[in-house]
Amino acid sequence: MRIDLHTHSNRSDGTDPVDVLIAHAKRDGLDVIALTDHDTADGWGEGRRAAEDLGIGFVPGIEISCKLSGISVHLLGYLPDPSYQPLADELATVREGRTDRLPSIVARLNEMGVALTVDEVLAQATGTPSVGRPHVADALVANGTVANRSEAFDRFLADGRPGHVSHYAIEPGRAIDLVCAAGGVPVIAHPWGRSSYKVMTAEMIAQLVSDHGLAGIEVDHQDHSPESRTALRAIAQDLGIIYTGSSDHHGVGKIDHELGVNTTDPEQFQRLLDVAKSNAAAATDATVPEAYLP
Ligand code: AMP
Ligand code: FE
Ligand code: FE
Ligand code: ZN
Repeated sequence: MRIDLHTHSNRSDGTDPVDVLIAHAKRDGLDVIALTDHDTADGWGEGRRAAEDLGIGFVPGIEISCKLSGISVHLLGYLPDPSYQPLADELATVREGRTDRLPSIVARLNEMGVALTVDEVLAQATGTPSVGRPHVADALVANGTVANRSEAFDRFLADGRPGHVSHYAIEPGRAIDLVCAAGGVPVIAHPWGRSSYKVMTAEMIAQLVSDHGLAGIEVDHQDHSPESRTALRAIAQDLGIIYTGSSDHHGVGKIDHELGVNTTDPEQFQRLLDVAKSNAAAATDATVPEAYLP
């Protein structure tokens, strides 16, 4: 069983339409794929249909933008009810914040002498409700400023670079509460990735487990060194929580994140489904979706 629990389509900042992403997952020999676009569940219906057509397992998920002490943290939510109102409201606020920051990003780049307009960015984000820095990068590629997304991030958009303007994001504890109340399974994405390693200490992970019901952490991820993976797996085992492995695939938008480059152990996936079942049973205000497992 090859299980990849973290991927993006062009409903957020991946480059493939949902049906193409699912077809690629089938082509690449995956048995189960989770679609986890940033702050939106828009692709779920299409993803499920495509997965059913091709006979590949499909888990609807979402990657929620969180912020702790000013540092960006991502929370994966598997199988929550996206129409559960308190969650839907917070996600809408995050998406608004994503779009509202575009004029400041563009102004900062213009000050550096880089030609760019908000409309050029929006032209790269048609069909997505969740505009991100990668779409700014795509606009810079389109107007010839840079060769690819990586160059755009390295020169202008990476955390701490002038074109990085943060957006509204949710406190992780609250996001975990919301995912649980919506009947889903909360898993911290790449806890020791780019910047989140500064705040996602073993103590913080333990606190999110005990105070909020964090169910797991992503361990096998391209942002984690072999040493980090070993240490994070030990933390998960210590706390008795789930550990996952995933590609964080973004189509051609992120090099070295091919589908299935990391996978989740079937035993850990079963635990995740078990938590989904009990969280769904406890979430009386939510109508939870089901995974499709042929
Ligand atoms: P945002 O949430 O819109 O501020 O942008 C964060 C997204 O940008 C992440 O989810 C990644 O998809 C992407 N990203 C961040 N850093 C890089 C990088 N160095 N190269 C390529 N993509 C990146
Ligand atoms: Fe992304
Ligand atoms: Fe992420
Ligand atoms: Zn991701």
